[in-house]
Amino acid sequence: MRIPAPLILGAGPAGCAAAIALARAGQRPVLVDRDEQVGDALCGGFISWRTAEQLAGLGIDCSALGAHRVGHLRIYAGQRCINLPLPALAWGLSRHALDSAMRIAAVAEGAELEIDSIRSLDGLIAKGTRRDWTGDALFLASGKHDLRGFARPRDASDPALGLRLRLLPGADIARQLEGTIELHLFDGGYAGIVLQEGGSANICLAIKKSLLTASSADPRRLLTDLAQRHPAFGARLEGSWREQPIDTIGAVPYGWIARDTPSGLFRLGDQAAVIPSLAGEGMAIALASAQLAAQHWLGGGAHAAPVFQRQFAGAAAAPLRIAGIARTVAESPALARPSLAVLGRIPRIAAILLDRTRIEITPSLAPDCVAANTRANPT
Ligand SMILES: Cc1cc2nc3c(=O)[nH]c(=O)nc-3n(C[C@H](O)[C@H](O)[C@H](O)COP(=O)(O)OP(=O)(O)OC[C@H]3O[C@@H](n4cnc5c(N)ncnc54)[C@H](O)[C@@H]3O)c2cc1C
Repeated sequence: MRIPAPLILGAGPAGCAAAIALARAGQRPVLVDRDEQVGDALCGGFISWRTAEQLAGLGIDCSALGAHRVGHLRIYAGQRCINLPLPALAWGLSRHALDSAMRIAAVAEGAELEIDSIRSLDGLIAKGTRRDWTGDALFLASGKHDLRGFARPRDASDPALGLRLRLLPGADIARQLEGTIELHLFDGGYAGIVLQEGGSANICLAIKKSLLTASSADPRRLLTDLAQRHPAFGARLEGSWREQPIDTIGAVPYGWIARDTPSGLFRLGDQAAVIPSLAGEGMAIALASAQLAAQHWLGGGAHAAPVFQRQFAGAAAAPLRIAGIARTVAESPALARPSLAVLGRIPRIAAILLDRTRIEITPSLAPDCVAANTRANPT
């Protein structure tokens, strides 16, 4: 007899990874997403070496998706620029390409995909626009979007915003960005630039709202102002960027961690922890939380949710803290410029920072495997 699998709300990286893990353990999980067509989530599109490793374990090969290989990190602050090797190969890939591949993989492994927009939760019942949904447990993987009653606190004084635009493929931008992810640090935020499949360049900014307000709350004017103040960034914006659409997202709750949850509700991905995007580790957190939640549910069922959440919060705490400090330094020119000088002279410090901002799920965090197997294959 099969036990009813958890219902997974949200088919982004966290939801799909959980679906794959559960399906591989013999379950038939149901994934519910509000969008029938896979969108192109606002994201820096940087797949860290750790994210790539986890994706490979899920059967997703970045190279086969046409992702751009990234071996170096180049950081600009004022007149300073440093180049650092990454500890292992990373990638640039659009979220449309990644999320599409993940959905296909989840369904191929045996997950069922349903389309509905969930409005609220009532215990273990998810109330959708089409109908109510339930399962043995709920895996909340709605990412950037909070459900009613589950809002994550934001910095109300000067919240973080995300902005993204794409540059069309071109010989100049390809030469400038070959093999590299760039971070351009500003007073109040940064822009990350990386090439993606097909040769387009993804430019993604995470900034304080006040920076946008200072440019009349007009994203195009902000980009023009930043390009004038920061020539290296301006050099990337040459050409036809003004014709490209700009996507925005408001009030990102950087630094938030879910430490508690009621029995039956597993919070995954951005609903579990939101690392400052500068670290390029949000998707690894999504995948790691999904893997650990699936293991906990398989080992202990719905009641394992609070233990899972505490353990995941423990694992995420240090990377989030260090990424938070890095964000504070990066957003302040008075701190960023001397820090860059130090990193340029002692690259070992940069290597440690890159390592300590990764999420580490050690085998000791996984619940008892015997119990997990018994639950996956009950007699
Ligand atoms: C500016 C910025 C730049 C970033 N850059 C990077 C980067 O370069 N690299 C990196 O690793 N991370 C980056 N991140 C973080 C990364 O985008 C997130 O951590 C990641 O998307 C989290 O995955 P998720 O599955 O939890 O949520 P999402 O990717 O947000 O997926 C959530 C899914 O749930 C669905 N959904 C939402 N609400 C509902 C509802 N009510 N009913 C049904 N379905 C619903 C959505 O349609 C979506 O499919 C960045 C974040 C920001 C803000």
